[in-house]
Amino acid sequence: PHVLISGANGYIAVWVVRTLLEEGFSVRGAVCSAEKGKHLSELFAPYGDKFELAIVPDITALGAFDEAVQGVDAIEHTASPFHFQADNPAELLEPAIKGTVGILESARKYGKGVKRIVVTSSCAAVMNISTEPQVLSELDWNDQAVKEVEERGRAASAGAKYRTSKTLAERAAWDFVETHKAEIGWDLSVLNLPLVLGPILHAIASPTTLNTSTCMMYDAFTKPGSAAGGGCWIDVRALQRAAAGGERIIIAVGAFAWQDWLDAAPAGGKYQKGTPGAGKDAVHLLRYRNEKSVRVLGMEYRSMADTAKAVVADWEARGW
Ligand code: NDP
Repeated sequence: PHVLISGANGYIAVWVVRTLLEEGFSVRGAVCSAEKGKHLSELFAPYGDKFELAIVPDITALGAFDEAVQGVDAIEHTASPFHFQADNPAELLEPAIKGTVGILESARKYGKGVKRIVVTSSCAAVMNISTEPQVLSELDWNDQAVKEVEERGRAASAGAKYRTSKTLAERAAWDFVETHKAEIGWDLSVLNLPLVLGPILHAIASPTTLNTSTCMMYDAFTKPGSAAGGGCWIDVRALQRAAAGGERIIIAVGAFAWQDWLDAAPAGGKYQKGTPGAGKDAVHLLRYRNEKSVRVLGMEYRSMADTAKAVVADWEARGW
């Protein structure tokens, strides 16, 4: 079988590509430019013609994926901006929403063989910020961020802008399927991920160009005072499981304080130690139910020690 993956050069996507290739799939990786695909061609050269690139310069353009979807059996849509630098919310909303609807529309028109489309959404589309501890599930939607961006525009918080892009893009995907269900031969599966951590496979020259989630972890290990705070996490190496159609599925291990990661790292390493044990005092306002991922996908979650060990070994091998 042949799988198209958008944003193939991204942190998560490179792991997905490698896993698919290892499992015998053929993969077409869509990237914005030949330059962005160079590292992928080198990394996946051992798989020969099982890996090919598709250049999609602008995912917001009408019909951007019309060619790329032809001849594939499944699509994984991961291309979407994940950063907190946007001034105008449209910088995030446009590529997130148009990219998602665009790839679905191309699949509707030209993806004759497509059976399944997986969209990488986020717990950003699930969460709410509250002063009370909450446990959230697939039934929850982040209308709070959307409201903030509607009301405050550019003045909305950076987090709200990103979270709105993920919420609206995911809603648009489900709406698309509802509107076109009579004309499409595929089903949709949406994965909602919290912070994704783990070793790096993609092209990174130095820690300063790390993607947002792994950069936060690197900061926690290296910058004084940045081990405060936390969130919920998943190890990137777990994203390989085939998902069930028509389902929205949260994939999350558990809540953490960054200090917990410093404590979980192998003893004797060169990174900062913070205040060992202080993580146990953290109040976790957000937790996610993950029973559905276990039931539907058979997810088996890695331990924090396992992930921490792999990440630290990766950094050390890079001399960081
Ligand atoms: P990366 O930043 O590593 O990769 C993002 C990918 O999307 C890159 O291929 C990038 O291409 C592409 N992309 C971003 N903006 C645009 C744009 N405007 N036009 C075209 N392509 C674009 O991110 P991750 O691997 O961390 O994230 C991948 C997906 O997973 C995203 O949808 C993100 O929202 C989601 N996610 C990530 C989490 C995490 O903790 N990492 C948590 C939850 C969800 P280019 O390099 O050319 O810019």
